[in-house]
Amino acid sequence: MNSPDSILISSSQLQQRIRDLAGEITRDYRDKNPVIMVLLKGSFYFAADLTRLLDFPLALDFMAAGHGASGALEVVRRPFNSIRDRHVLLIEDIIDSGLSLSFILTWLREHQPASLQVCTLLDNPARRLVQLPVRYLGFTIPDRFVVGYGLDFREDFRHLPDIREYHMEPQSQKNGKS
Ligand code: 5GP
Ligand code: MG
Repeated sequence: MNSPDSILISSSQLQQRIRDLAGEITRDYRDKNPVIMVLLKGSFYFAADLTRLLDFPLALDFMAAGHGASGALEVVRRPFNSIRDRHVLLIEDIIDSGLSLSFILTWLREHQPASLQVCTLLDNPARRLVQLPVRYLGFTIPDRFVVGYGLDFREDFRHLPDIREYHMEPQSQKNGKS
């Protein structure tokens, strides 16, 4: 397996941008007692760093989507608590094609939140297949496969403190996502 080399976004750049995002989210949600919905696994460091800068009442919840036995995308871990009539802010690691986020947004809307917005750390617009409403965005990145700060390649590299470019061997490309 290759090792990830070039650092695309450093740890201090991440923390600086997350402070800005926390300011925007505070302005919009401080009186709404929102549910911060963390999409596992990739967004857990981002969500942890972001939410500890939010000094107002909120609930944290977690969910995960993945490909089930049939190969279709499904919610493999449901949120612990009801989101009905709650203001939900979904925390995502990266939007690529937008297909998984689009599926998750549809699933969440069926559970009747009072409002639903998306906060993603990274956006790779070159790969977008479906357009999505993204309220808060950390960084737009070039069309590269990245790892670190929660993002993996086959469960490796999540614990890197920064975002790095990972050069896949050609035969690995199809299975690199999670
Ligand atoms: P999408 O459905 O928007 O194509 O992407 C779905 C998921 O694929 C993302 O939430 C993320 O978990 C994974 N993914 C997409 N691009 C990358 C990438 O560059 N690096 C890593 N590690 N995962 C990615
Ligand atoms: Mg993801």
